[in-house]
Order: sequence, then structure tokens, then C-alpha cells
Amino acid sequence: MKIKIIGAGLSGAVLARVLAENNFDIEIIEKRKNIGGNVFDEKINNITIHKYGPHIFHTSKKRVAEFMERFWTLNKFKNIVEGYIGDKLVPIPFNFKSIDICFPDQKEKIKNLLLENYKNMESVTIFELFENNDPIIKEVANFIYKNIFENYTIKMWDLNPKEIDSSVTSRIPVILSYKNTYFTDEYEGVPKEGYTKTIEKMLDHKNIKFSVNKNGIEYLKFENNIISFNNDKSCLIIYTGPLDELFDNRFGVLDYRSLNIKFEEINQEKFQNTAVVNFPAHPTMTRITEYKNMTFEKNEDITIISKEYPGKYSPLSKEFNEPYYPLATEKAREKYSQYKDIADCYTNLLLLGRLANYKYINMDQAIEDALIMAKKVIKMK
Ligand code: UDP
Repeated sequence: MKIKIIGAGLSGAVLARVLAENNFDIEIIEKRKNIGGNVFDEKINNITIHKYGPHIFHTSKKRVAEFMERFWTLNKFKNIVEGYIGDKLVPIPFNFKSIDICFPDQKEKIKNLLLENYKNMESVTIFELFENNDPIIKEVANFIYKNIFENYTIKMWDLNPKEIDSSVTSRIPVILSYKNTYFTDEYEGVPKEGYTKTIEKMLDHKNIKFSVNKNGIEYLKFENNIISFNNDKSCLIIYTGPLDELFDNRFGVLDYRSLNIKFEEINQEKFQNTAVVNFPAHPTMTRITEYKNMTFEKNEDITIISKEYPGKYSPLSKEFNEPYYPLATEKAREKYSQYKDIADCYTNLLLLGRLANYKYINMDQAIEDALIMAKKVIKMK
């Protein structure tokens, strides 16, 4: 069976590799000038930058970690994030050190209350804290909500945290200890050789042909319940891009959120202490990433940072024309399901990845989904 994969991002590359190793004939087509999708990275002045924002791999899925170890070696980076509350830098997720900084007079009382109320728990979500009737815990919940979540989330999603699916803000719980790592997974790091090189390695297989600067959609024809590729009806099409694009935006543009990422080269060795600093209170910017702090690359004269400004995705926008995050509201999902219903009518079409499936997933989930799809396709042989 001939396989055409549209999009050479992480999902498409993993699928391509596994299928190629199982003797499928794969063509993978990328419309951008580079492979890698949104994990694309490149070296500038000996510093690897992530063109589409910071990507830190983390997983507890052994199978995913072991599969990727065939193609990359992760460095020892562990993400530690701080954020500004007023002029103070506090750990995010909010932890016991954040309490010490923000509540110097009541810190012991608050920490004890939290430990009593949430026995044997490592963390709680902000919404769980709100449900507590203790007035001090309520006050702390309000403080965290106002200073960490509210404004950041409004910038990021154009919604307040109570209007968006709670799974989004629950990614950042409140930690009931001094533990200060952003993630809790067993495996974590950034690939030493970069994401783009990793994907290049994956695609380097005799059964994989890949091209860039080519819009795969232009080769598709939709007839009855089959999609032909270059008039060939015998291919299996795996689509990894935004689903609205596949169907001419006929139900309107999907509600992805986009980022305007501004890179700055600065003539100093170091800019900030951690790789990522969040700015909940800033009117438009969410975070600053200093790449050297996550790659451990050396350059005494220069550092590179990126500043992220979120906005509503629109293919016609100058600043927000790349889709990054699917908005998680009922209305947005309903729009997606209109597209999904049409996609399901085509018997030789499969959807893969964060954009095509309209799912806010991390890299490890994207890889796992691709491994699962590969199994399914192998069974179809
Ligand atoms: N969030 C927040 N304040 C922060 C960090 C995160 O309100 O300082 C919320 C915000 O809604 C964000 C979500 O938590 O979109 C998930 O954050 P995460 O850092 O996981 O986002 P990603 O790295 O995927 O952009």
C-alpha cells in the first residue's frame, strides 16, 4: 500500500519511520521550506533556537522514550519556571517557596493548612483549592488565580480560566512541597542534536521519500468517499495539518490560537536564570525563553531569547498565521466536529497529530498516537 503523509512534523515523521521499517512505501510532503513542523529548530551563532517556541520533551511513557532514544540523546535539562508577581520572581507552578515569598507573615500557617487539607497529595488544581471552605485557603486560591492564572489565560486564550476546559489550566497545578520542576515525568530533556536533526534521521530510510515547499493538499481530489492523490485512488492519505485547510475552510477557520514569537539576540552572556520566565501580569506577552539555558550551549558574547505574544489564528493574519493550540471550548469543538464528520466519510483518510485531531497534546502523546496509528496501518496491509 502506498502511503502519503501530509506534514513532516513530529507525528508524521514517527509514523513514516515505523511504516517504512515495515516495508511500506512512504511519501511525506511538507508545505513549509523545512521539515520538523512546530518542533523545527536551527542553530544561530552556535545557539539552538526553537522557531515555534520552546519545546521541552517529557514523558512517563517508556515505550515512547525508548522509541525516541533510537534517534536522539536527550540532555539533562529539567524545566524550572519562574514568573513575575509584581517585582518578585516566584516558582511556577506555585509551590511552597512561592508561598514563602508571597505570604511572608502567614507562610507557616498556610503550608500547614494545605498539608492538613490535602494529605498524601503532591499537588492540587486551582479549582480544587477554590472548593475548600477554609477562608485562608480561599484567600490563597484567589491570590494564585489573580496573579498566575487569570491574566495569563486571558492573553493566551482570550478567555478567563473558568470559561476554558479545566484540563488546560490543570496542566499547571499548585505544588504541595518545595519541588520546583515544571514537569513530573520520568524522562525529560531537549535532544542534544536538536529536533530537526532528529527528524532528518527518522526520515533517512530507503522507503521514505520526502519533499518540502510542496502543498500536499493541492494533489488531492475528493471523489465520492475516496481521496485520490495525483489521480491515484489506491493511496492511504495521512493528514497532519489543520483540518479546516483540508476542506477549504468551509465551516469557517478553526479556533486555533497562534503565537507571534519575537527573537532577540543580546550582546551578553546570560539574560535570565531559568530557561523560561513567565509574565502573567504583562499586557500582551506570556513568557521569555533563553535557549542557552535549556541547551547548555556556550557563547560568552551572545544569548538569544524569544518573547511570546499569543493571538487568534487566522491564515490571513500577518502576525498570527500559524496554528499552534486548539481552543478548548464546546463551541470550538463543535466547529471541529463538522470538519471531522466530513473527514470520516473518506475511507482512505486518517488524521494524525495536534492540529488535525484538534487536541492540545504534548510531544510524547503525539509520538504515542503515531505509534498507535502505525500499528493500525500495519494491520490494514
Ligand atoms: N497558565 C497560566 N499561568 C502560567 C502558566 C500557565 O495561567 O504562568 C495556564 C494558561 O492557561 C496556559 C495553561 O496554563 O495556557 C497551560 O500552560 P503550559 O505552560 O502547559 O502551556 P504551553 O507550554 O503548552 O504553552
